[in-house]
Formats: sequence, C-alpha cells, structure tokens
Amino acid sequence: MARNMDLKKTAIPEQDAKERAANFSEVSLGYTEEMAKNEAARCLNCKNRPCVAGCPVNVQIPDFISLITEGKYVEAYDKIRETNGLPAICGRVCPQETQCEQLCVRGIKGEPVGIGRLERFCADYAIAKGAKAVRCAAPTGRKAAVIGSGPAGLTCAADLAKKGVEVTVFEAFHTAGGVLVYGIPEFRLPKSLVQKEIDALRAMGVKIETNMVMGRVLTVDDLKAMGYETIFIGTGAGLPSFMRIPGESLNGVYSANEFLTRINLMKGYRFPEFDTPIVRHRRLAVIGGGNVAMDSARCAKRLGAEEVTIVYRRSEAEMPARAEEVHHAKEEGIVFQFLVNPTKINGSADSNVTGMTLQKMALGEPDASGRRRPVPVPGSEYDIELDAVVVAVGTSPNPLMREATPGLVTQKWGGIIVDEETAATSIPGVYAGGDAVSGAATVILAMGAGKTAAKAMLAYMGIE
Ligand code: FAD
Repeated sequence: MARNMDLKKTAIPEQDAKERAANFSEVSLGYTEEMAKNEAARCLNCKNRPCVAGCPVNVQIPDFISLITEGKYVEAYDKIRETNGLPAICGRVCPQETQCEQLCVRGIKGEPVGIGRLERFCADYAIAKGAKAVRCAAPTGRKAAVIGSGPAGLTCAADLAKKGVEVTVFEAFHTAGGVLVYGIPEFRLPKSLVQKEIDALRAMGVKIETNMVMGRVLTVDDLKAMGYETIFIGTGAGLPSFMRIPGESLNGVYSANEFLTRINLMKGYRFPEFDTPIVRHRRLAVIGGGNVAMDSARCAKRLGAEEVTIVYRRSEAEMPARAEEVHHAKEEGIVFQFLVNPTKINGSADSNVTGMTLQKMALGEPDASGRRRPVPVPGSEYDIELDAVVVAVGTSPNPLMREATPGLVTQKWGGIIVDEETAATSIPGVYAGGDAVSGAATVILAMGAGKTAAKAMLAYMGIE
C-alpha cells in the first residue's frame, strides 16, 4: 500500500457538537475500514519504534498498524492483545498525546499517526465480528483473590486466569468496572464495551462477586483463611478531596465522584426510567482542570444546564486533561475561566448555592510538579452567580482497606507502598497496584500495574 504523506491525521467522524451536547451517545464515531487503512498508511514503520517505548504496556504499535494496511484487522487486534487486554477501552481513553503519539516521528513535521484511533478501530472491528475467547491453561487448583474491579483488578485477574488460577474478584459496587463504569461517561466510553470485557473475563472462569465492601465484609486475613494464597488490592483512589473553603456544605455542592456516579453508574441521566434522581441545574461551575472536571462539565451540559463554567487556577497550558476532551468541551459550549481560584461558595438563607467568589491568580515559579505555581492576586476577588458547584480537585485512596489490614504499609496520603518491580506490599502474598498505589493516574498505568502484580503472584505460587 502506498505511504500516505499527509501531514494531518485522517479525520474521524464525530457527532455534531450541538446535537451531542444534548445526548449521552458516543461523541466519536470511529474510523471506517477505508479511513483506518488511509491512516495506517501514514506509519513509517520506523526501525527504532519510538512509539512502542511511549506505551506503558509496550504494545507493538508498528506491527499492528502494518496488519491494518494489509486488511488483517482481527490479526491486528490480536497483536495488541498480546500486551494490552483492553484495546477498545484504551483506544478511546488513553492519553496518547503524552504517550505513544508524542514520540511518533510523523509528529515532528505534522500530526502524529492516530495510534489511538487505529487501536479503537481494530478492537471495534474484531469485537463486532465476535472476537475469539482467550485460551486458558488447565486449572491448577490454586486460588487468588482480586479486590476491586477497575482496570488494575481486571487485568490482574485475566493474567492469573490465563495461567489456570481460580480467581475471584471482590467488588464493592453492584457493578464491576471501576472508574470505567462509574466515572468515565457513556459519551466517551460506552458501558456495553466495558460489559463485554467483563463478560469475557467471566468466560475465562473468573468469578466476580459484587456488593462486597472488602475490609468490612471480609478482610485480607479472612481471604487467606478461605484458601486464597495470594491477593491483589486494586481499590483505586475514589475518596474525593475538597477545597476546604467556606460554603462547601451548601446544597448544590457535589464532589465530582458523587456527581458522575449518580449520572453514569446509577443512570441518573435516564431518570425516571432509572430511579436515581438528579437535579437539573441552570448555572453550574466545575472546579478543576483534569479529565474528571471535563467529564463533569460535559455531563452537566447534557443534563440541560444553560451555562457550565470550568474554573481552573492555572492557565490552559497547565491543564492536565486530555487535549481531545478540552477540545470537545469547548466545542460543546463549556466556558473556561483560567487563572482563578474559588475562595468561597455563596449561599441563600435556606442553604442553597447562589454563587462563588473567585480570586484571580498569576503564574509564579514552577512547583514540585514542574508546573508554574499559581499565586493569588491581592484584591482581585469577584463573584459569579451559580446554582451548583462540582468539586473536581483530585481524589485519594479510600482508607478502608488500610485501616482493616494490619501491617499494610502506606504513604502518609494513603497510597499503598509496593516494590516497584513486583507490586508486592509489606504483607507476604499480598500485592497492590493502580490508583490505590499511585494515586489518581491513568487506565493504562493501572493495567500495567495489574500485569506486574499478576506475574509476581504467579511466581509466588510457583506457576510458570
Ligand atoms: P478504579 O478504576 O478506581 O477501580 C477500583 C475499584 O475498586 C472500584 O470499582 C471500587 O468500587 C473498588 N473498591 C474500592 N474499595 C473497595 C473495597 N474496599 N472492596 C471492594 N472493592 C473496592 N484515565 C485515562 O487513562 N483516560 C481518561 O480519559 C480518564 N478519565 C477519567 C475520568 C474520570 C471521571 C475519572 C474518575 C478517572 C479518569 N481516568 C482516566 C483515570 C482512570 O480511570 C484511573 O486511573 C483508573 O481507572 C484506575 O484504575 P484502578 O483499577 O486502579 O481503580
């Protein structure tokens, strides 16, 4: 196939911005075969493969792209699956612009190859064709437990099951999937896709027990007594942080976690068809500049809010959200106020939110994160009118597991301390990974941690 030297990525069809801002269907519609082949032909198949080094799970990117150029889409999917168990998900939500695509040689003089778009294309194609079940080794009779069913836990469970281990996943919520189902909205990641991955895991023999708040229902010691030789903790970082400013307990102030969980997991956007009510606000502000803030703002818009504003204390250049999400949010009419920080949420006599006081900020010297520190501008406060505020300023690991597990050594902020090479915790046979260790990070890093742990857990049980 002739090389495509176009400097731009092959455009991907999307729902019209106005239309999609009023529905929860997926924004991006994905490549057709023709578009995928056209984009795949932009790959130079470089000898030194810089893109692979940028992928936290080392997907052999040029190999799968070259299979796409030959029209071998299912084979391309299988190639990705050699190192990444969730391509349909990663193709949609990975921050490719700071990983594989950032190192793509085509990006030097134009746009990098659309690696994420191609990954999504072959995953969707293969799933639609009925991707074949993963083959597992004969049962070994050995038992392992996985606590938490986010990408870290699911990946760990899959790798253990492949080797014939009897795996049970214990999940606190009534549905498995972690942030993939309770956080990331339907319009970015259709839940039916996550469900398919979970069904595939069940088809491999993995048991998933929901409504199991571990640390309360069962402890690590209980699991050991039940015959689980090794245990993985992948409980994420679901405890929301707040600003600690006056007015945060007013009616109409939400943590992003609560807001998104009500809408996504509990299907609040389909009330009354589903029985989780959600107040439809008129003027809403979201505090924060990450993916969680973008998702909250875009959900609020879809629920009918007339004006949704994101307030962020640094400038646009420092925003941690994926570039694509910021771009989509702007297209959908989300207003951005940069270099401002809330100092107070204002309320009425009956304790409902009426607005927020914001202070302007300037950028000072870089802080520990390498980003320029926001410095308050004295006397620059001003008020905006609102009827709801969503706080999306970060999360930390829930303290439940560490409080219920004597001997589990954690950081001061709650992250479980592990050996980097093996994901082993301070308790023999107990491993941990994902956001529960790193704090809020990414899907692909959580998956990588699940893989590392599974490898070490197999070694612990003496399974090759
Ligand atoms: P989680 O996905 O948090 O899963 C942990 C699971 O453990 C949950 O199901 C939880 O209910 C369960 N659990 C917790 N405590 C217990 C207990 N005591 N007993 C049993 N179960 C328990 N990353 C990206 O790469 N791209 C994105 O676009 C992106 N967008 C995001 C948007 C939002 C709104 C959020 C919140 C995060 C986003 N992230 C994104 C981050 C990414 O989703 C996380 O880094 C990733 O899900 C972490 O995986 P995990 O398996 O460690 O934890």
